[in-house]
Amino acid sequence: MLRDNYQVDHDLIAEYFPAKVTIRHMLSVFESIFGLEIQNLKCNRGDHIWHPEVKVFSVHDRISSTFFGFLYLDIFLREGKFNHAANFNIFPSYSVPVGMDPPLVCTALVCNVAHPLHDKPALLKHHEVITLFHELGHAFHDLLGRSKYATFHGHRTVADFVEAPSQLLEYWCWVPECLQRLSCHYSYVSRDVDGDYEGDTSMNHPTRATKEIPRRLVESLVETRSINQGILTMRQVAFSNFDLKIHCPDSHEAIKSMDIAEIYNSLLQRTSLLQGPDDGYQWGHGYATTPHYIWGQEANYYSYLYTRILAANMWWSNFHADPMSQEVGLKYRKRILEHGGSQNEQIALTKFLGGEPTVKVYLRYL
Ligand SMILES: [Zn+2]
Repeated sequence: MLRDNYQVDHDLIAEYFPAKVTIRHMLSVFESIFGLEIQNLKCNRGDHIWHPEVKVFSVHDRISSTFFGFLYLDIFLREGKFNHAANFNIFPSYSVPVGMDPPLVCTALVCNVAHPLHDKPALLKHHEVITLFHELGHAFHDLLGRSKYATFHGHRTVADFVEAPSQLLEYWCWVPECLQRLSCHYSYVSRDVDGDYEGDTSMNHPTRATKEIPRRLVESLVETRSINQGILTMRQVAFSNFDLKIHCPDSHEAIKSMDIAEIYNSLLQRTSLLQGPDDGYQWGHGYATTPHYIWGQEANYYSYLYTRILAANMWWSNFHADPMSQEVGLKYRKRILEHGGSQNEQIALTKFLGGEPTVKVYLRYL
């Protein structure tokens, strides 16, 4: 449907997003927005990395020259590796007495981008660009944290807020100028050092693709943003209701006699309006492959949707007019990111927005 009705070819678009170069361009976007300086550190065997593929970056504040800490990137798929995209805090920050150096933050981004094909560097599909940008959002929430106590550092906020900063960053992945800035056609990427830097741009040829992703390609992609959002959002509503239902039974007997497949599938069917393949509700057991219902945030699945409301409010009130504004980026960094979970998120957010967040803003976008 995307290819035939909207002329969106995701394989062609991926040619403009070679993983290593795109990630470096992502870091430069974070440098611009948050006023940072990010440098790739050369690592040798025996340095504090857990695999030769891991890259380490130092992160400084460009304005005050404060050294924040280290960002570790472990991007590529390999056997035995944690198989989701996630950010992990290795060492948090906290206040120390005057005269002592504050501890340096260490944070690690772990992803599973497929390895390069023999004649091309590893390419990112647009949804992978979004995932990486989202996870980098957690990494910078972590790196920029300046709370008094380590227990509130970085993304250690309440569950009803923790995803909002990263979901906010996903909006940049739908801004044509930003996508163009992240792009670089893979034919411009040097292959001799596994595509670690951009190749010779002087080899321009009339039939060669442009280096930057063409505007019309980006615009056709951006036009499809809302395709299927209705169904996808209603599925999230169903999953959230399922999570609340199984974790809030009326009695012990009620949970013992609960038909979990029936609750799951009937909610999905009623909410998304998509019918199952058979009569009854025993045709699928999707809940068995979703760890979220049992991994320590029970009855909290709804927060993925709830924080999308907060992210939409932040985007439309502050960033939409000029997404690359450093003035707004610094305001956001100082008022929201720096505090981690050490302030009441609702009060801080209301001040940042200039009013209470409302569901209307998100519904209008949907
Ligand atoms: Zn996240």
